[in-house]
Amino acid sequence: MPLIEMYSKSWCPYCDRAKALLRAKGQEWTEIDVEADPSRAQDMVERTRRRTVPQIFIGDRHVGGFDELQVLEDAGELDALLGREHQEAELEHRRVVIVGSGPAGYTAAIYAARAELEPVVIAGLQFGGQLMLTTDVENYPGFPEGVTGPEMMELFQKQAERFGAEVVMEDAIEIDTSQRPFRIRTAERRYTADALVIATGASAKWIGIESEERLQNKGVSACATCDGALFRNKPMAVVGGGDTAMEEALFLTRFATKVTVVHRRDELRASKIMQERALAHEKIEFAWNSVVDEILGDDFVTAMRLEDVKTGETREIPVEAVFVAIGHKPNTELLQGQIELDDVGYIKAEAGTSRTNVEGVFACGDAMDPVYRQAVTAAGTGCMAAIDAERWLAEQEVG
Ligand code: NAP
Repeated sequence: MPLIEMYSKSWCPYCDRAKALLRAKGQEWTEIDVEADPSRAQDMVERTRRRTVPQIFIGDRHVGGFDELQVLEDAGELDALLGREHQEAELEHRRVVIVGSGPAGYTAAIYAARAELEPVVIAGLQFGGQLMLTTDVENYPGFPEGVTGPEMMELFQKQAERFGAEVVMEDAIEIDTSQRPFRIRTAERRYTADALVIATGASAKWIGIESEERLQNKGVSACATCDGALFRNKPMAVVGGGDTAMEEALFLTRFATKVTVVHRRDELRASKIMQERALAHEKIEFAWNSVVDEILGDDFVTAMRLEDVKTGETREIPVEAVFVAIGHKPNTELLQGQIELDDVGYIKAEAGTSRTNVEGVFACGDAMDPVYRQAVTAAGTGCMAAIDAERWLAEQEVG
């Protein structure tokens, strides 16, 4: 077995995901904490030319971060790299399989488990969903002092498990809704299911310029809470005008000398309370009516070139990190051609229910909600999906 080394730090959702994947494969690794010893951070940058954690080495090979580890896994190449033989899993049958583990998936699991449907939750390598990348959740009822996203998702998971839901920390890599029972496959397991709940959520959108991709892990990131601390005492930028952008900008003020928020209009989309906090913060500046034309830097980000959308003028602002927070797209690629999606990719559900156009398949959370996209609404639709699935299963038995 090759030696695995992982550069990591304490708040690091992507490190946790990488560890869960390696653990599922029975691997051990040596952890190098870049926060505890700054010389280790310097080591990491010299060895990898990257400024994000985790950075993973398997033997001599620099794999990269969690995303790159996941790409290897999804392509079926990770086992070979780990010197591990892949074994085809037995087919397991479940009454309900839930794909996804944000507030929607776990709430569906709590309800389905309490209905004694013994659900399995295919939690995914990005288990816990978007809340795993969030620091303070202040608007989820029942937490008057707020709660961190990861803490909240741990509580959701525990509550689902308490009633007998089984949680599998693997990605669904194939879903077949063309026949009943439905079929779901992960890298290590295969399931058939009488009813299927889709709660795959949404992922961050990118601007789509070449330099953004080239400088990812080198100053470009979509997660300020993950990577902000690596740019201590540097100027940084956040792109976007929504709640996520405000939250990230406010979080970054802990480390940055200055945070420039780049927004394409002259009015923010964020909620009033978040706007007020960001607008009042002395370290936050706004570049209104501006888009990022180019992110500059050879090895690492050194500046961004902004274009004024009204005048077409460009200007350069020195920054060492650019955090992109321009919204999300639904994670429904696996369902293309299987259930009805809208033009953007959101699952179409019958109004007021979680029913999709395929009988026995129910949708909830951000994967089917282009409007509200809140943790509490995701949990609400997760509850609906479990109740709809339970009633539908009961009708099948009676019929
Ligand atoms: P969002 O509300 O959709 O905002 C996205 C922002 O990015 C908008 O300001 C948009 O500009 C801008 N944008 C979109 N595409 C762009 C592009 N290609 N180039 C430049 N700018 C672009 O997304 P979000 O901020 O991630 O929030 C998603 C949902 O989660 C919302 O419902 C939000 O309320 C919720 N949320 C809540 C909290 C909280 O309550 N603490 C925290 C985070 C998120 P325009 O305004 O011009 O469209």
